[in-house]
Amino acid sequence: MSAEAPAKLTHNEEIKAAIPTLAGTIAATFNDPANDHFSDDDNQFLKFHGSYQQDDRDLRKTGKKYIMMIRGRIPGGVMTAKQYGVFDTLASKYGNNTLRITTRQSIQFHGVVLSGLRPLVKAINESLLSTLAACGDVNRNVLAPPTPAYTKAREQVYADAHKVAMALAPETKAYHSIWIDGVQIDNDAAENKNFVDPLYGATYLPRKFKVAFVIPPVNDLDLYTNCLGFIAVVENDNLIGYNLAVGGGMGRSHGNEATYARLADVIGFFTPDKVVEVAKAVLTIHRDFGDRTDRKHARLKYVVAERGVKFMQDEVNKRAGITLAPNTPYKFTTTADLLGWRKAVDGSWFLGLFVSMGRVKDAGGAKMKTALRHVADAFQGVEFRLTANQNIILANVSEEDKHPINMLLAAYGVKTENQTTILHAASMACPSLPTCGLGLAESERYLPGLIDRLQKVCDDLGLGSEEIIIRSTGCPNGCARPYMAEIAFVGKAPGRYQVWLGGNASGTRLNRVWKDVMKDPDIENELRPVLARFAKERNANERFGDWCDRVFLNEQPAAAN
Ligand code: SF4
Repeated sequence: MSAEAPAKLTHNEEIKAAIPTLAGTIAATFNDPANDHFSDDDNQFLKFHGSYQQDDRDLRKTGKKYIMMIRGRIPGGVMTAKQYGVFDTLASKYGNNTLRITTRQSIQFHGVVLSGLRPLVKAINESLLSTLAACGDVNRNVLAPPTPAYTKAREQVYADAHKVAMALAPETKAYHSIWIDGVQIDNDAAENKNFVDPLYGATYLPRKFKVAFVIPPVNDLDLYTNCLGFIAVVENDNLIGYNLAVGGGMGRSHGNEATYARLADVIGFFTPDKVVEVAKAVLTIHRDFGDRTDRKHARLKYVVAERGVKFMQDEVNKRAGITLAPNTPYKFTTTADLLGWRKAVDGSWFLGLFVSMGRVKDAGGAKMKTALRHVADAFQGVEFRLTANQNIILANVSEEDKHPINMLLAAYGVKTENQTTILHAASMACPSLPTCGLGLAESERYLPGLIDRLQKVCDDLGLGSEEIIIRSTGCPNGCARPYMAEIAFVGKAPGRYQVWLGGNASGTRLNRVWKDVMKDPDIENELRPVLARFAKERNANERFGDWCDRVFLNEQPAAAN
């Protein structure tokens, strides 16, 4: 009897092995002015450099217009005012004049044509930030708690997040060569052909890898949705260690039950001196055990789900040279950002600014892009912090700067108090159409209007001041973390959404699918009776997501996943 042939590696694995520096022919392509797009293989390499090739889907009927998305690598989402100013200029000069804050505390540029790509990336590097590894089969932007409101230990946690971000960066020299020098390296030269990254090896990871740090009780970056999570344990404002969480992830595919959203398991406690070793241990477990034959089954969450917690504990202990201790008790209470002016624990001020759908732009009466640019230019000591809820915090504001910043923002129509409605503040959407090639339905351009419609339903039912976390994505990949929302709309086709209910406010429970397909015009009529029952039957202070999980969903027939 012949042994079964090993499953074939994916095409991505083959091209990584063939060009382990990840150089592809990217530099050669943009050095020829006749080119307006990259080859399919270069598009895969491009991701490691922080960019996706896309095309404007609104224009497809009249032909294909190639545009690039470029994402910064901004550990913990912390930028100096000067760096923010650079990003603002680049968005106007090369992008579509907007800055898109992402759920990973980064900024994306949309609508960049090929000729603008290199000068844009070069300028980001000159600002001492990078785009390397913002996408691709590597560690992505590391998340860190953005708010200075709760504990001085945030500084220690942020420093660890920064340390881990640097330690997990790939070392290829192709990045510098392409984007700074503009030179195509020789892929056939022995040193390039045989390049092996000291951490990632020659073929990097089977898929992306996501790391987050959080300080309970605040879970403002949905820690359990990450491959690797560090839950800070703080005593008397001092960091004493981390509970380690592994194996979270949002992405799934419609109609494929072998793919699913998963919350991370918390597998033990360790002291902060080992944070880099532990990060490398978990990353290399993904490198060594992740599925390289099926990209839909390649995330670390499937390794953890299939091999179990004990396997992960043993491997982490062995690779990091530690012995994980039992978890230290903790509790999460909220995933929300603090909006408006607040006092930081060090006595300075900070301002949480709501950014609708994460899109910083000048629109209508509110010229947020211009206003923030003026703040960045005039108040160089202010730190710009991007939140994983796609908002901005202006931090390190002195008492004397608070009023002038308020006046400046007000002059451009940007509110600092009562910034938006309770439903909008708790909402989040992925970009989807017209830029994302995977979008099956509208998301960013759709959700604000849908929220206004649902607000009317809530007002009618006496639920007008009820916070309900509502998220949408254009496809099941889950970029806006829809499977944690109290109500989620996940695109299936134009104007059609799968509807999920039952997430919670602390980000500790996955929601469940309620309706496999709902047409846009039916949404209010479908949700109204559910919200009406909630209004009547809820326990005191019970949230919509909790009631759905406790009562409503248990009465519903199982819906397709
Ligand atoms: Fe694109 Fe899907 Fe991510 Fe939305 S969730 S940005 S449609 S990949």
